Amino acid sequence: MEKLTLHNTLTRKKELFVPIHKDHVGMYVCGPTVYGNAHLGHARPAITFDLLFRYLLHIGYKVRYVRNITDVGHLVNDADEGEDKVAKKAKVEELEPMEIVQIYTNSYRKNMAQLNVLPPSIEPTASGHIIEQIEAVKKMIEAGFAYETNGSVYFDVETYAKNHPYGILSGRKIEDLYTNTRDLDGQNEKRSGLDFALWKNALPEHIMRWPSPWGIGFPGWHTECTAMSTKYLGETFDIHGGGLDLLFPHHEAEIAQGVACFGHATVNYWIHNNMITINGQKMGKSLGNFIQLDEFFTGNHPLLEKAYNPMTIRFFMLQAHYRSPLDFSNEALQAAEKGFERLMNAMALLKNLKTADTSTLDVEKLKRNCYDALNDDLNSPILIAHLFDGAKMINSVNDGNMTITAADLVKLQQLYTDLVYDVLGLQPSGDSPENGNSELFGQMVELLLILRQEAKTKKDWTTSDQIRDRLTALGFEIKDTKEGADWKLKN
Ligand code: ZN
Repeated sequence: MEKLTLHNTLTRKKELFVPIHKDHVGMYVCGPTVYGNAHLGHARPAITFDLLFRYLLHIGYKVRYVRNITDVGHLVNDADEGEDKVAKKAKVEELEPMEIVQIYTNSYRKNMAQLNVLPPSIEPTASGHIIEQIEAVKKMIEAGFAYETNGSVYFDVETYAKNHPYGILSGRKIEDLYTNTRDLDGQNEKRSGLDFALWKNALPEHIMRWPSPWGIGFPGWHTECTAMSTKYLGETFDIHGGGLDLLFPHHEAEIAQGVACFGHATVNYWIHNNMITINGQKMGKSLGNFIQLDEFFTGNHPLLEKAYNPMTIRFFMLQAHYRSPLDFSNEALQAAEKGFERLMNAMALLKNLKTADTSTLDVEKLKRNCYDALNDDLNSPILIAHLFDGAKMINSVNDGNMTITAADLVKLQQLYTDLVYDVLGLQPSGDSPENGNSELFGQMVELLLILRQEAKTKKDWTTSDQIRDRLTALGFEIKDTKEGADWKLKN
């Protein structure tokens, strides 16, 4: 099996990936809070962990990939105050909170399918795991790391920090955290400003509510991921992922909750993708640059010059390493569009290359370079650079400047299918000859050209010209040959 190294946020080092259970991998990734359409910020973690999921499967692991849906408990304000994001949207839209959850879960799944992100093995919802969350909170109280006040339960960060390192993931020091939170008002329910809610007492106007040992209430945002990850992956599992924005407080809280529940760390590898900026600016509601994925696909946003195919977005993200920040601009996207097209053209050429007795290209070396890049903390930009090197060679073989044997061609075709389609998850976009319907589509064009040939034989020039002109108008390039005619789609 390939030796994959991954950068562990916890140790701040690249480490060889060794799963707990030999060839089975457990992976948990924090999914979306479903109260609005998915935007660019949702695409990056989804694509990052899709790449990891696909690569683990490709190199022979069985993977249980759990990605949750947050449908309750994520408050507008991270300091455990304010309205629930889903409930707030439900009020505005005059819908049931669960209608909001359904609408935006559907829309998220649709967008993910457009980006060719594989669905996870399990997609649990927070509201579907209230009992598990209550049990987890009970354990934390029993262990002495949580306390109840007025029907709410808070995690006792100070007591925890006396026994375990708090801030270990984000590198924050507890003393600094104190200075930042000490003066906060309105938190008199908490023993300390650092404490976070595990369960909140529901005020009468709060519409999402459940009975608990502490009264009617709802879970705190961080509680769900501890309850659901360990339910499906066990007390200790291999990989926990998410965006860097979740490092603190969300993932830091998850580490503490896990230790409080089980007496030990629950996660072996913490993996985080970096953030996205748009035209050099952080994304923010007030800046008007929260571009939804649907808006990218239709071009319907003032910041966009045109529509972008989902595969252009995917390819663009994969051209950056997941731990690097990534800036979106029309210019960068259009460059990615061209690059993607070049790669797809090479894929199309690869199908029909002429073979020779000797090869002047080294397929094994190209293959090793590609896998080395992936094994080096999923270095997709380096992988893509090698695939472009290969594309140049494919073009050279096509132009007759290089040669390839039949055996090498099979290897090269396999390599590109494996890496471009299966691992990078790229697929030919609709307007390329490499699209999913190309077989049928090609046969139909062939049929029209046969009819045109028959018309020519009968000297029916009107019909033969009409077929050629109509096909040309549709974007085909028709070239007459000795045997009949060749066709291709014009670029
Ligand atoms: Zn989470």
